[in-house]
Amino acid sequence: MDGVGAMTQRGDARIRELKEAFPRAFGADPDGVWEAPGRVNLVGEHTDYNDGFVLPFALSETVQAAVRAREDRTVRILSGQQEDSAKVDLDALARSDALQPGRRVSGWAAYPVGVLWALEQAGHRLRGMDVLLGSSVPTGAGLSSSAALECAVGLAAAESAGIELDPLALARMAQRAENDYVGMPCGIMDQTASTTGRQGHALLLDTRSMQLEHVPLELERAGLSLLVIDAQAPHRLVDGEYADRRRQCEEGARTLGIESLRVLTDQGTTPEELDVSVEDDVVRRRVRHVLTENARVLEAAQLLRDGDPAELGEILNAAHVSQQEDFEITVPETDRLVETVLQAGAWGARQVGGGFGGCVIALVPQDAHEAVVAAAASQAERRGLEAPLMLTAEPAPGARRTA
Ligand code: ADP
Ligand code: MG
Repeated sequence: MDGVGAMTQRGDARIRELKEAFPRAFGADPDGVWEAPGRVNLVGEHTDYNDGFVLPFALSETVQAAVRAREDRTVRILSGQQEDSAKVDLDALARSDALQPGRRVSGWAAYPVGVLWALEQAGHRLRGMDVLLGSSVPTGAGLSSSAALECAVGLAAAESAGIELDPLALARMAQRAENDYVGMPCGIMDQTASTTGRQGHALLLDTRSMQLEHVPLELERAGLSLLVIDAQAPHRLVDGEYADRRRQCEEGARTLGIESLRVLTDQGTTPEELDVSVEDDVVRRRVRHVLTENARVLEAAQLLRDGDPAELGEILNAAHVSQQEDFEITVPETDRLVETVLQAGAWGARQVGGGFGGCVIALVPQDAHEAVVAAAASQAERRGLEAPLMLTAEPAPGARRTA
């Protein structure tokens, strides 16, 4: 298992490498390096766009942006993770016609350019800059490398221009980039976790009031670790399915005559009451997931306040079943992996992220750690796959300047 010391050292090495690579790419040293973390969500899946509760934490894995300001309004962006580069003019971004079909940047660069676009659209005047990106967040694995990328670039761009943005404002800019520029209708959780994370804490976020509470997450002290394992599920048409779920939740709220599904939690509605009030079976199950999931988040937060993280196991298991049966966003690969790690001694496990693949998180007591790792690896081997990506998730700080 990685100690925090080892993590920090690796982080330092990453920053050093990025600073060394910068002059090779752009001919001069960077002014600074900013980084923003990916996140893992303990519980609270698909609740954020229903005005509900989530309980994520920021990871020690980050996207880093090394930046050198320019005298003009040109932004050039390179990524160590990508072959192609991007070049945009901030004046064009500030004019909405930059969003005409064919004029919008596509591919990976839409994330960083999108956040520049959102900042310019909000009236912030940025400086031109050269940007080199590095990352230790696995992409497309449900750990929100996209939000980490947006937040790292957003913070770097703002601070390079002398603009002060509080963490929630930065999160909103990043979300706007993903919603309106990339075209992914995500909620506010990922970006908020990335900007407001705190070492050793999970974040209880009420996405309606944006009230947040940092609750201690002391796994090591309880003899536990939270393992993130990539289920290596083949790519599926995730965006369409995500939007479908969102629409079904909106339909549920309309049927019930409420503003959002969160209201059910305020009203103390029980799952049984839904059986009578929502006729459509699919919509009812979608609504039930959101209702029970919000309850699980609040229960989990209370367990953490009470210093009782071992009890999280049951909540993770119930959350997985709800995602599987009611929200129907799991896939056979994640279902099997959850079963496998539970058999190997994990106290709880569930698929994390938007769904249809991605990673599984497992709450693992120290004495079962090796068995769980081995079981996940041999399951992958039986499928003819490489050993899956696995990491021990440790609650780390949010977006910041690091060099
Ligand atoms: P997740 O957020 O779960 O990792 P997404 O599909 O939302 O998955 O975002 C992944 C996408 O974000 C990648 O396909 C790529 O376009 C972009 N991305 C993430 N990190 C980087 C990076 N370091 N450099 C360039 N693009 C990145
Ligand atoms: Mg994402």
